[in-house]
Amino acid sequence: MRKRNEGGKGLESHIIPRRQHQVSRANISKPALKVLYRLRDAGFQAYLVGGGVRDVLLGLHPKDFDVATDALPEEVQKLFQNCRLIGRRFRLAHVHFGSHIIEVATFRASSPKDNVSNPRLVHSEAGMILRDNVYGTLIDDVFRRDFTVNALYYNIDDFSVRDYVDGLKDLKARRLRMIGDANQRYREDPVRMLRAIRFAAKLNFKISPETETPIFELGNLVTQVPAARLLDEYIKMFLAGFGVVSFQLLRHYRLFRILFPETSRSLDGKNRTLVEGFITNALKDTDSRVREARPVALPFLLAAFLWYPMQEEARRLMAEGLTDVQAFYEASTLVLQRQQSAVALSRRLVLAIREIWTLQVRFSKRVGKRALQVYAHPRFRAGFDFLCLRAASGEREVQKVATWWKQFVEANDEHKLRRR
Ligand code: ATP
Ligand code: MG
Repeated sequence: MRKRNEGGKGLESHIIPRRQHQVSRANISKPALKVLYRLRDAGFQAYLVGGGVRDVLLGLHPKDFDVATDALPEEVQKLFQNCRLIGRRFRLAHVHFGSHIIEVATFRASSPKDNVSNPRLVHSEAGMILRDNVYGTLIDDVFRRDFTVNALYYNIDDFSVRDYVDGLKDLKARRLRMIGDANQRYREDPVRMLRAIRFAAKLNFKISPETETPIFELGNLVTQVPAARLLDEYIKMFLAGFGVVSFQLLRHYRLFRILFPETSRSLDGKNRTLVEGFITNALKDTDSRVREARPVALPFLLAAFLWYPMQEEARRLMAEGLTDVQAFYEASTLVLQRQQSAVALSRRLVLAIREIWTLQVRFSKRVGKRALQVYAHPRFRAGFDFLCLRAASGEREVQKVATWWKQFVEANDEHKLRRR
């Protein structure tokens, strides 16, 4: 049965009935199903969409579930007690189930060409969408999504999958393809370039030629992305178990040099092998921690990305006559400032990176009571892991210090256990 809003000819051919696809309710979280059913029972359309459908079809475990509906955010809110409306660029409903959040988005229209005259859709001069709260139909919603494999809709009403952009074909071919004109879609929202890399890394997909080509030209636009969105992307790219591949792809698509110009210079410089080894070790370490469900932290990685640029700067300053400690602090400030002027980093992140670095100096001056003070530092773990990373990556001068601290940590951990 075709619903009221979907107009157009031949759309039925895009409806894949339950018996012809692999999305099963058994693979969808209980809270997500609850949200879908309640929306449907209230007379609204309700679809699971995005990573939830894509990952289930790939046999992966989705980390979150997104719902699309024709209910307005306020209507969604009325249906759920545990619901909050949020949204910087878009108004969304978040339905909370403990720590589990189901994101419910109202169908949106955002083809900028059709909407330039629409006052509710605000563009920057470069064509970037700054605000769009233009509600639309399911079909509109399809065309404002990024990649075809992210635009598969699972209908809770008849358990069919809607595929208007050949997403299933691309999924089978393990191909990432932008919906619409990639050039324009990247201009509207440069984060899509980072998302392309993230999905290629995570899913081991190839980016199709027309989707990858504009990245080489438009990479610079990522400098306009606000700090908060960039931070989200960094976390998803580097702290989800495929950081090494993300790093390699970012370099391949020449985005790494835009995001981390200082690091990129070191990666092209005379210490390139060392620098690359160091960064790769940091990412490998993080990837394996993710696999083992151990805690990971972004400041640790960024501290690693910027470590060599900082060291190189410090050496330069020492040659100018500064003491090693002075040079270290001065270089930290300079490198972090330059990084900040390339792309935004939150103050908290910058502070955390600085603390990890500062601990490196304090580790070397470890006598008596001071060692315990250092041990009590809130960022001790990250700093200590960083020290071990340096030692393991060939910084010979810190090997002894690292060994000393390892013994200190083990002794103290044992001591703590005994006291329990
Ligand atoms: P994952 O949750 O594994 O990171 P996802 O595909 O679910 O992957 P989300 O960021 O949760 O990614 O977004 C949900 C869906 O919203 C996407 O699948 C996509 O359809 C759409 N979407 C998200 N961000 C954008 C964007 N910048 N441009 C266009 N569509 C987007
Ligand atoms: Mg998602």
